[in-house]
Amino acid sequence: MDEISADSFNIRDYLRLELFPHFLCPGCGHGIALRALLWAIHELGIDKNDLAIVSGIGCSGRTGAYIDANTFHVTHGRPLAFATGLALARPDLEVVVITGDGDCLAIGGNHLIHACRRNLNLTCMMLNNEVYGMTGGQASPTTSATRYTTTTQSGSIEPVFDACALAAAAGAGFVGREVTIQTPALKNLLRDAIAHKGFSFVEVLSDCTEIFGRKNDLGESPEMIMTQKSTMRPASYGVVGGNIVDEPFRATNLKTGILTRTDRPEYGAAYRAHAAGIRAARKS
Ligand code: SF4
Repeated sequence: MDEISADSFNIRDYLRLELFPHFLCPGCGHGIALRALLWAIHELGIDKNDLAIVSGIGCSGRTGAYIDANTFHVTHGRPLAFATGLALARPDLEVVVITGDGDCLAIGGNHLIHACRRNLNLTCMMLNNEVYGMTGGQASPTTSATRYTTTTQSGSIEPVFDACALAAAAGAGFVGREVTIQTPALKNLLRDAIAHKGFSFVEVLSDCTEIFGRKNDLGESPEMIMTQKSTMRPASYGVVGGNIVDEPFRATNLKTGILTRTDRPEYGAAYRAHAAGIRAARKS
């Protein structure tokens, strides 16, 4: 019941209301993800002064500006790079990255795999809506097969990334996935991710109603999310006679919840211990 009443959580306490009205289109899932994130932060009792939000470019990254905390809106694909420096320099801060599928997996893909490899204590929330929404609706690394975008006018034929499998394989200590329409479950997942000591990667299946949804006739927001959950398949289809054959793989939903949780040495603590050892050796 507490998940429904949300205790004393009031999202307005965490927002820069002076920036409203916000830019999000009606039905966009990013606002729900933002609510779940702030709800998780509230439940963890994190003071806004101790919270740092680093966000990249796109509709996903733009949401970070509305959070009344220490916020950094940085260059395209680089929020994990900026967040790495910040988390190393200020381990007292809770650092959370907000990024999108294009920002995180295309231009920022290299930063993602190395952030997973290092296992520095920060949380990456990747909003996956299968498209570059803000920049005009181009295909991203997670655009499902056959979907129409401004750069795939006859339907996408590229295999998509399974971002969670990628993060786990690269060494992320905590990996999970959830859909926006299960908001309490998403809040719980984000809460566990932030509490985890190490690099946490959370993929949020969100929806771009205005650009992606309309172009593909995917219906209203909840329908879009469930369709996305059941159709986004990593490299599981083939092309036969010029047609994409992927229906057998659309029967199974993507898994949600915590997918990987392992305790690996956290990089920040190891880095500081190493630096202290060097300093001590120089003094002796
Ligand atoms: S363009 Fe798409 S992702 Fe961007 S705010 Fe509108 S619905 Fe959301």
